[in-house]
Amino acid sequence: MTVSHWIDGAQVACDGATQPILDPSTGQQVGEVALADAGVVDLAVRRAAEAQRAWGAASLAKRMEVMYAFRQLLVENTDALARVISREHGKTVPDAAGEIARGRESVEFACNIAAHLKGEYSSNVSSGVDVHSIRQPVGVVAGITPFNFPAMVPLWMHPVAIATGNAFVLKPSERDPSASNLVAELYQRAGLPDGVFQVVHGGKQAVDALLTHPQVAAVSFVGSTPIAQYVQQTAIAAGKRVQALGGANNHAVVMPDADMAFAASQIAAGAFGSAGERCMAVPVAVAVGGAGDALVAELAKEAAAIVVGPGDEAATTMGPVITAASRQRVLDFVEEAVTGGAEAVVDGRDLVVPGHEKGFFVGPTVLRGVATSMRAYCDEVFGPLLVVMEVDTLEDAIELINSGPYGNGTAIFTASGEAARVFTEDVQVGMIGVNVPIPVPVGYYSFGGWKSSLFGDHHAHGPEAVRFYTRAKAITSRWPHQAQRSVSASFDFPGHS
Ligand code: NAD
Repeated sequence: MTVSHWIDGAQVACDGATQPILDPSTGQQVGEVALADAGVVDLAVRRAAEAQRAWGAASLAKRMEVMYAFRQLLVENTDALARVISREHGKTVPDAAGEIARGRESVEFACNIAAHLKGEYSSNVSSGVDVHSIRQPVGVVAGITPFNFPAMVPLWMHPVAIATGNAFVLKPSERDPSASNLVAELYQRAGLPDGVFQVVHGGKQAVDALLTHPQVAAVSFVGSTPIAQYVQQTAIAAGKRVQALGGANNHAVVMPDADMAFAASQIAAGAFGSAGERCMAVPVAVAVGGAGDALVAELAKEAAAIVVGPGDEAATTMGPVITAASRQRVLDFVEEAVTGGAEAVVDGRDLVVPGHEKGFFVGPTVLRGVATSMRAYCDEVFGPLLVVMEVDTLEDAIELINSGPYGNGTAIFTASGEAARVFTEDVQVGMIGVNVPIPVPVGYYSFGGWKSSLFGDHHAHGPEAVRFYTRAKAITSRWPHQAQRSVSASFDFPGHS
């Protein structure tokens, strides 16, 4: 099976380079994906620009009708989409269904886009002069997305971009590309005109062609921090509006007054759900004021209860990581930490899943006594590794978090409103959970981190996406009576009259 580009309402024949798609639970090839060159990208963007002219002029009623139909199709096809995601990504089918449900919130926001596109109106700002403002689509928007949420992260982008009247060209991850073509089919069935949602597959060559294409007006990117920085700089140099969401290293703080069993179960879900491959995962727990022993004991129980296996088996609670290289990275980080004196409270390095010996599995691992200089702590692990750090006070925990380069998400577990308030006020992070481990905001709020977790001015989805995907116009009007028309214009800059 070859997954090829979706252009003008159909998958196009692939006659260029391809790359294998692997099932991470077996390590075996399950298909191949076409890799777009600059010519393919140019075709997709030019046709999107043509389609956008009519779509941008379509009524709000029509655009919302398409979004309602798309939402319904997304609901009806959740299971099929989740199975495709699970096979190429490795996450469990219920986890994949969960990402579709969270992404659907953005479609639901877009179903009501008229409420968010209302302009302003001021009458009689000067004698007989009125001013009103409107927001118009920017044109063609490119979305470049990571492997870890093949449905949800694109869904943060395209529903709002399309509902606000733009055409959207998606370049999903080449590791799990199939979900994007399924979504394209659903848009077509929902009545979206061909060309308004295009998919080009590929890697750096496709991305570079999008970032520099003269007809791409705006770029939404989500991925690792070095690529996010590169995308932002390249797209800005090419004169585009850009938002580039990067990596993360999220800490969850556990105060001594927290319910340890509750905190540990929440943190384990954050650390090991989706094998730790979430930008809002919790790879670091920070135990405050002697909470370490109790927390580590509870975390060890949680880790022991995890069932590692293929994502499509009902008993599995944690699947493999995405590639053999990802697996090796996690093993290297653990090895380095243990050699340097850290204690492996739970050690998942030797885990073997019977019948899946070539799969990219790593067992859940919990480390204690890790130095801040070790890669297990300071790099983005993106695997099922949880590091427990120990500090004396809440202020020390906040200082630890604020001294790191990332600012995507964080959480505090406590029974104290005062501690929670100090934490939420002082921590330099974009999304915070209080007794909530993965605080991904609902679709009618916006999503975005601080520092090296986001380059650009706008957060993703929700109200900030409306502003990112539209440009403002202010219109000043006068409809003078016959008598006023004879008054000649002043050569001075007009003041108040
Ligand atoms: P990645 O940066 O490797 O890839 C992201 C996208 O960029 C893909 O479409 C890929 O094809 C493209 N790309 C890769 N290398 C490129 C290059 N040299 N030049 C141009 N384009 C390139 O990220 P990934 O491994 O797919 O995803 C995991 C990363 O994404 C993690 O760092 C994770 O934290 C991050 N992420 C962040 C968020 C967030 O909201 N901040 C959400 C999800 C994932």
